[in-house]
Amino acid sequence: MVERLYPVMRSITGPGVRESLTILKQLIPLDIHEVPSGSSVLDWTVPDEWHFKQAWIEDKTGNRIVDTAHSNLHVVNFSTPVDRELSLEELLPHLHTLPEQPSRIPYRTTYYSEQWGFCLSQQVLDSMQAGSYKVRIEAERKHGVLNYGEFYIPGERTDEILVSTHICHPQLANDNLSGMVLAAALADWIRKEKPTLSWRFVFVPGTIGAISWLARNRTSLSSIVGGLVITGLGDESPFNWKQTREGNHWIDRIVTQSLQTFAPEAHGTLPFGPYGYDERQYCSPGFKLPMGRLSRAVHGTFPEYHTSGDNLEFVTPAGLEQSLELLKKIVHTANNDLVYQNLSPYGEPQLGRRGLYSALGARTDPGALQMSFLWLLNQSDGQTPLSLIARKSGIPMPDLVDAAKLLLEHELLKPVCHGSSNPLSPESWGEVSAR
Ligand code: ZN
Repeated sequence: MVERLYPVMRSITGPGVRESLTILKQLIPLDIHEVPSGSSVLDWTVPDEWHFKQAWIEDKTGNRIVDTAHSNLHVVNFSTPVDRELSLEELLPHLHTLPEQPSRIPYRTTYYSEQWGFCLSQQVLDSMQAGSYKVRIEAERKHGVLNYGEFYIPGERTDEILVSTHICHPQLANDNLSGMVLAAALADWIRKEKPTLSWRFVFVPGTIGAISWLARNRTSLSSIVGGLVITGLGDESPFNWKQTREGNHWIDRIVTQSLQTFAPEAHGTLPFGPYGYDERQYCSPGFKLPMGRLSRAVHGTFPEYHTSGDNLEFVTPAGLEQSLELLKKIVHTANNDLVYQNLSPYGEPQLGRRGLYSALGARTDPGALQMSFLWLLNQSDGQTPLSLIARKSGIPMPDLVDAAKLLLEHELLKPVCHGSSNPLSPESWGEVSAR
């Protein structure tokens, strides 16, 4: 699917966005929404559609030295049309290169100003002789709509998790075909499960799409208990979680706990900052949604970022698959993060009398299950969610979930609520306090 989406000329609006959403729709039945050009959305105005046909620069021998037939990155995205003959000197202010990476084409946009330009490698620029060049950009800005995709999976609870990914980059694989495809694949997996929480996936053009979605849904955001912006998940570098604005929200614990269990050898936690992807919009102070961002390579810190180096070789099947596995673990951890009450809280209940020792005997590692029982019975005070018990005990969440089911069957625990209903951690979990 990444390969299919790669050549589509995307932008923040226009046919490329629609085509991309239509391709994703083959995996999940998402709704494709329309916001008319010129609509006021929060402090912004929805731009016209960008309809692009082709762009090239031809030298005096008729040789097309820059041509979008070879890479969508060659035209500054959202350029106005041009059809002229120019000297190299006149053309230079419209040419963008990466002198420090001379073989790569940069990615540039001009969404909110009426300009045109080309992106090319420094090597090609260096080969251009003085003289005249024919330049042509066949593109049109016209009234239409902004499209975004949305897919809602109702769970047993109305509390929902929002997963957002941007869909506007024209020909970059990690940023953000990886996010688009993984969001769709994850949604397809969740809808076949019976999720505890409800899950909402939005596929939005960067910034203006998230702002449009927020503008349309601003009165119905109260059921969002956590969220993830996902992007840059197709390479093979370590995972990075950018924390929510508060940094100690329930979703921070869910993702961090999942990372510690499933990618313990290498992952990073980044503090929130007002720069980055659409977490900027979701975490703006008017909305303050509890959303963080999951990535592998972090934008702006790897040389392939926003260049032609972010291609189908930079993104690997192994990288994508590992990210999908981690996302599924996050879903599992989030859905199963229940708060239990110990129904026999005065002293330790006698496990043997209840047949729980036979459960231990059937296990390859009875010691681990017994430790899970002890932690669960001790910590289940009606306030402490499983994710926090996992954090304190170091026991992987799936093991606690299994053990809790056994204690539930033996009427030693009862579920009280879901962990997300107490959104901020009852204690600082960055440092587990010594007690
Ligand atoms: Zn980007």
